[in-house]
Amino acid sequence: MKHGSILSDNFPQSRVSSQRKSTPVIRYWAKDRLRIAGQLFPDEVIPGVKVFDEGSVTSVLVNKYERDPAARKECIAHYGVTCAACGLDFGERYGDRGKGFIHVHHRVRVSKLGKSHTVDPIKHLIPVCPNCHAMLHTVQDDMTVEALIELIRTQAALTKPG
Ligand SMILES: [Zn+2]
Ligand SMILES: [Zn+2]
Repeated sequence: MKHGSILSDNFPQSRVSSQRKSTPVIRYWAKDRLRIAGQLFPDEVIPGVKVFDEGSVTSVLVNKYERDPAARKECIAHYGVTCAACGLDFGERYGDRGKGFIHVHHRVRVSKLGKSHTVDPIKHLIPVCPNCHAMLHTVQDDMTVEALIELIRTQAALTKPG
């Protein structure tokens, strides 16, 4: 699996030039649909992979709003590049290599979107690290970023030594 172009998506300075605006709703399919109940993690999305019509799919991965460069830029300009759920800052952890890296999560479930959904980069998008992003997408249960923050907090208290 190629990861290069996916990583490029997260770095505005190395934007993939072949990326085009596309149809209203894009769902990407895994090669192995059985894995984790048919889910693909956001980082495993393959750009240019076959796109299916809405209604013929059961698996939602990242949607076009999470990949839209302009929307991403505005979201990050507002929130910064720290994970809104766990607080990870890639620049802090990985230095220059990680600087500016973050995923952007679209809070509205794709299944609830109308055909002409207008994305508000501040209301609808939120920066999250790939770990938290995967957790948000792992199960189709409407998990919100707020619920994930609570889960991380609860889990941290449970696993605290002593
Ligand atoms: Zn995180
Ligand atoms: Zn997402």
